[in-house]
Amino acid sequence: MLSAAVAANSFDSIADNGRRFVSDVLIVDDDPVLRGITELFFKKRGAGRIRSAGDGVEGLAALKEAQGDVELIVCDLNMPNLDGIQFLRHLGEAGFGGGVLLISSDPPAVVKAAESLARAHRVRLVGALRRPVKIDQLEEAVHRFLVAPDPFEAEAAEPIDIDELTYGIANNEITAVYQPKLDVATLSVRGVEALARWNHPHLGSVAPGRFVPTAEEFGLIGELTEAVLSRSIAASQRWRARGIELSMAVNISSQLLARLNFPDELRDKVVSAGLEPRDFVLEVTESRLLQRDPNCAEVLARLRLMGFELSIDDFGTGHSNIEHLRAFPFSELKIDQSFVRHAADDPFARASIDASVSLGKNLGLRLVAEGIETGKDWLLVTEAGVDQVQGFYIARPMSAEAIERWMLNATLDDGG
Ligand code: C2E
Ligand code: CA
Ligand code: CA
Repeated sequence: MLSAAVAANSFDSIADNGRRFVSDVLIVDDDPVLRGITELFFKKRGAGRIRSAGDGVEGLAALKEAQGDVELIVCDLNMPNLDGIQFLRHLGEAGFGGGVLLISSDPPAVVKAAESLARAHRVRLVGALRRPVKIDQLEEAVHRFLVAPDPFEAEAAEPIDIDELTYGIANNEITAVYQPKLDVATLSVRGVEALARWNHPHLGSVAPGRFVPTAEEFGLIGELTEAVLSRSIAASQRWRARGIELSMAVNISSQLLARLNFPDELRDKVVSAGLEPRDFVLEVTESRLLQRDPNCAEVLARLRLMGFELSIDDFGTGHSNIEHLRAFPFSELKIDQSFVRHAADDPFARASIDASVSLGKNLGLRLVAEGIETGKDWLLVTEAGVDQVQGFYIARPMSAEAIERWMLNATLDDGG
């Protein structure tokens, strides 16, 4: 188990661990004083290059001059000539691939509209801060930008070749990494979530966002899940042999829940490995199938009867909602990371978290918040009453061996 002090130490080192700062930033603001303060912040924190512009027109010119070097734009919404809203459109049209941080004193509804617009233009919005901006808010937003992967990167990448994927699965190229889930009350690690990775011979480690949808589309999801389960079971056995007992959460595509023999197959696999269903959490995200297929209800109910834990994943998104809590025997609710990520500056996100916690508590579910990237995120969800946290701030997904070192280090330090 991790003691509070050890945990705090390791989180600090993870948060700052050799992290680089922004290499090239563009600040667009018509108020010279506020612009100066932002410039000073980036200068003090060691930004490689700082560019400044007094409005959107100047901003676009500076961007052009930078020839693709700008990594982050900090932009005021309300500006003369070309305002922030128009500026976002131009950024989208120019295919700007960096991050954009909005700063404004405009009403929340206007800021919300700007956020939707940024998404529509496929501009990567890092956050929207309200004036007066505090240094730690700025710090946090920039940190968030630096640790988070580019949300559009996976989609922009080349589509996966189905023959390659079929071969890759058969050739044992599917592996898993494991991300710790931390118990808030005790600060101990209770379990991990297994996340699929494809060790592609040319592309390197491929994220599941690129191949899970392909696997689902071409009927390969059973084989893929089988591969991840085999890895996860082997990892559990390895850890147990070294005295580390962790529950294993596995993502289960709702397609599999339409297969009536899925519970029996899963139980056999688990039991023959010397493990028990209660050592596993099955994380399910709904799709259309789940609603329409009556088999799903039977499969989920039987899995629960056998002792598997069931988690409703991505709760609060269009894919996962309150109706499913009524229909299926879930034991855990995972609040979607989009709410967690925006909670600090978004009253709607915060209200969603509170509502999910209250609902979950009333139904006797364990509450997990994923996507914890900063200390503030942690504080916020803890105050809201979640039981477990998961996210880059605590630990990134790691190999089975790395989990072992991570756990053992924490335990050793704990004694001394
Ligand atoms: P998910 O189940 O919601 O898993 C959480 C995702 O968020 C993971 O991405 C994880 O690396 C990422 N993440 C964790 N902490 C943070 C954080 O603090 N900040 C940010 N920005 N991201 C964080 P990953 O590994 O790329 O997986 C993406 C999705 O792919 C998963 O989302 C899950 O829906 C799906 N997936 C992964 N493995 C499997 C699998 O074996 N089977 C199926 N069917 N789906 C899988
Ligand atoms: Ca999940
Ligand atoms: Ca999720």
